[in-house]
Amino acid sequence: MPYQEPHQYEIDRATSKNELVKVIPTRHFLSVPLSADGHWTGSPALYRYQLGVWYDTGGNEITDPERDVPERFRKEIAEIPLEANLGTGPAVTGKCKICGEEMNDSALNEHYLKHYHDTVARAGELGEKLEPTTLDKSVELKPKHDANRVKS
Ligand SMILES: [Zn+2]
Repeated sequence: MPYQEPHQYEIDRATSKNELVKVIPTRHFLSVPLSADGHWTGSPALYRYQLGVWYDTGGNEITDPERDVPERFRKEIAEIPLEANLGTGPAVTGKCKICGEEMNDSALNEHYLKHYHDTVARAGELGEKLEPTTLDKSVELKPKHDANRVKS
């Protein structure tokens, strides 16, 4: 398996933003050959450990880690295993509390607004279906003030 970017992003269809959807546990080691007096004596080498496989500076799999990966790096992996924590959940996590539809979290606010507007649009219709009870009959019904209606 080729080396993969540790942080995997996907475009959120609702917002066109990159959303972190997956973290592949990866550890990077940088090895710089030093002389006895602390000067660089060669090029730095990058070693990356991911899903049980070592990769070199160019992202190629190291087939013989025992030979090609410095022992102190292999030892560290053995002693401190990799863990990944997702900072955010997957892109699709939202569930509408009104109708139960699942969608991107980012789309949920807009969806709730739609429910709200639908309800407001139906408010008049619902009101007309309400029958006054016998107790209400003695009360003269006045048209309620409605801020949403334009005065004629
Ligand atoms: Zn809904």
